Amino acid sequence: MSSLLCVNELYYTYREGKVSTPVLKGVNLEVSAGELTAVIGKSGSGKSTLLHVIATLDRPDSGSVLFDGTELTALSSPKQARFRNRSLGFVYQFHHLLNDLSALENVALPLSIGNVKQTEALNRARAYLKKVGLEGKETALPPELSGGERQRVAIARALVHHPRLILADEPTGNLDADNSERILSLFLDLVRSEGSAVIMVTHDLALARRADSVYRMVRGKVERDA
Ligand code: ADP
Ligand code: MG
Repeated sequence: MSSLLCVNELYYTYREGKVSTPVLKGVNLEVSAGELTAVIGKSGSGKSTLLHVIATLDRPDSGSVLFDGTELTALSSPKQARFRNRSLGFVYQFHHLLNDLSALENVALPLSIGNVKQTEALNRARAYLKKVGLEGKETALPPELSGGERQRVAIARALVHHPRLILADEPTGNLDADNSERILSLFLDLVRSEGSAVIMVTHDLALARRADSVYRMVRGKVERDA
């Protein structure tokens, strides 16, 4: 099967002054369209770093990230930004919602940035809020929502522009079992019906087991989990 995403010998080191912390030490990973991939591993093993590097938010020391045949690490910053706006949905471990925009406006944001007309953008955002179980919360501001509700707004925002690649960093971290299940179903539905690819970092082994493939971060590399 052809890979939508191909990560090859990826190295990344955090550098602060004289201190350097090597985190990714030769990561190899392939993800096909239409697949849900789970990444598990101990806290501090580098899972978030890996997602950030794939997302072009951090530049690797060496190695390559091929997305649909394009070498992302070699793109100019404006082209990387275009990749992120068009093709990528990112669910942060700690969601970054804009506190003075309503839930609905937060979800519509990627569409507004993508020049979709405002009424259309709001209609599509409304449908996604419903999918994550937040019908009726459209006008709420993020500070008026619970942690789990804010997380679901962030997930809706990451999916609303139908990205081909979704990177989700512990998306169900502060959700109860019912809402975790809802999010997992949404991801599975997206990969099956739209051929998107999802990489989901999770602590929840029961959730990970339902992915098409599971990788474990160990000592700066990922191993296929049997
Ligand atoms: P995980 O998501 O698996 O918990 P992270 O990717 O967040 O792990 O972190 C991997 C390692 O990199 C940890 O040792 C962490 O302390 C370190 N690290 C993360 N962010 C930074 C940073 N901004 N500066 C320096 N070190 C960092
Ligand atoms: Mg993390």
